[in-house]
Amino acid sequence: MSQQNEKENTQRVGSVRLSRVNLIIVSVAVIFAVLLTAVTYDAVMNFRLMQEYTGQYVESQQDAYDLQDGSDYLTEQARAFAVTGERVYLDNYFEEVNVTRKRDKALENLEGILHSTETYEYLKTALNYSNELMEKELYSMSLKIRSMGGIQGGIPEGLWYVDISTADKALEPEEMAQKAVDMVFNDDYKDYKDRIKTNVGLCTKTLLDEAAFRQDDSSAHVMTMVRMQEALMALMVLTFFIVVFMTNRLAIKPLRIFEEKIKAREILPLTGSKELQLMASAYNDMFEKVMANQEELSFAANHDPLTGLYNRNVFDKVRNSDERRAHALLLVDMDKFKEVNDNYGHDTGDMVLKKVADILKNSFRNEDYVCRIGGDEFAVIMVHAGPELKDLIRNKMIRANEKLADTSDGLPQVSLSVGVAFSQPGSISEDIFKNADLALYRLKNSKRGGCEFY
Ligand code: GH3
Ligand code: MG
Repeated sequence: MSQQNEKENTQRVGSVRLSRVNLIIVSVAVIFAVLLTAVTYDAVMNFRLMQEYTGQYVESQQDAYDLQDGSDYLTEQARAFAVTGERVYLDNYFEEVNVTRKRDKALENLEGILHSTETYEYLKTALNYSNELMEKELYSMSLKIRSMGGIQGGIPEGLWYVDISTADKALEPEEMAQKAVDMVFNDDYKDYKDRIKTNVGLCTKTLLDEAAFRQDDSSAHVMTMVRMQEALMALMVLTFFIVVFMTNRLAIKPLRIFEEKIKAREILPLTGSKELQLMASAYNDMFEKVMANQEELSFAANHDPLTGLYNRNVFDKVRNSDERRAHALLLVDMDKFKEVNDNYGHDTGDMVLKKVADILKNSFRNEDYVCRIGGDEFAVIMVHAGPELKDLIRNKMIRANEKLADTSDGLPQVSLSVGVAFSQPGSISEDIFKNADLALYRLKNSKRGGCEFY
């Protein structure tokens, strides 16, 4: 990736805050969780409602059967009495009407469940027909009793108010008995029975229709809820992957890069979330300052602050190190430098020192070490150099002194005295230093200025 692209990418990602992403994701997760809970709750409630409907349906169905059952039971007893005249059927009949009350109870029960519905109205109509039928049955029973000239145990209270027509009263007992039987077996009676049956049937049918409708409705609702649950679950899984992706992109990957860069002591790229970028930027600032400080410190530790040449430290290290083998050591001392200070002042003295440093620096190769080792003392270590370079060295110093004699720069004329010694196989650095110093001493004591070899 080119640097330009990297920068653009960084800026694009740069607007994303990890804390904001976190807030959004948590909010989304909470919304999903609430929706999922609501959907699940709704599904459970719907299931309960369905259970309730099923219970009601079963109960209502039973009520319809009970009403039909009660009506049929009355018919059976009435017919049996009309045919046999036995007291027991009479008692059974009134037991059902007054005590058991299967039909009335069935309707009351249904009223509690499906009040003022079509289903209820059908069953109510069935009961009305059944009650109308009872009038015929009571009349038939009264006729039968009359045809028998009374009954053992007395006439039941339910028959006390049955009004027998004058025409029927005039009938012969056999005719009367026959009419009693006819009344509960004739077409009119059967027609009523059919009406009851039809209404009970309609009641059951509407019940079934309603149950089927509710079941369909419920199933559709449950299916919708299940779909919603599936969708929500899919969204939650998707959210999870987004969290993993975003965390990786905004935090984990950048942190891994930071770790590598920190170990390699390099500056950090501005990548990842805004917070991490701010942190990386702060780190980079600090890192650059520390590096600059370190450079300054190491420069100060190795260089002379006035001239910028290597200091005594470096000189001692280099001459004691094993790395350079054959070398020449030049010890340089300025002649009568005190006088310069005395005559021109310390500041001018400093400028002269800098001039000397520059000339020396430019007189030798880059790999040679030019050092300031004292007030007006300098030293040059020429690496890979032997006595064959004597003339070269001498010429270098002549040229240096020529430059120092030039006062066109406004600085006073000075000269350098140089003592030179070469390393011998097996010699130690201290000996070379002494030799060079001796050569310098000799020069100082004779003429000053120029070069003296040990
Ligand atoms: P000689 O020819 O015998 O070397 O005479 P000299 O005057 O140079 O004597 P010497 O080398 O003993 O004296 C060195 C003088 O250098 C002493 C001091 O005043 C001066 N000096 C040392 N350090 C500095 C410095 O940093 N700046 C300046 N301006 N002068 C310095
Ligand atoms: Mg001197």
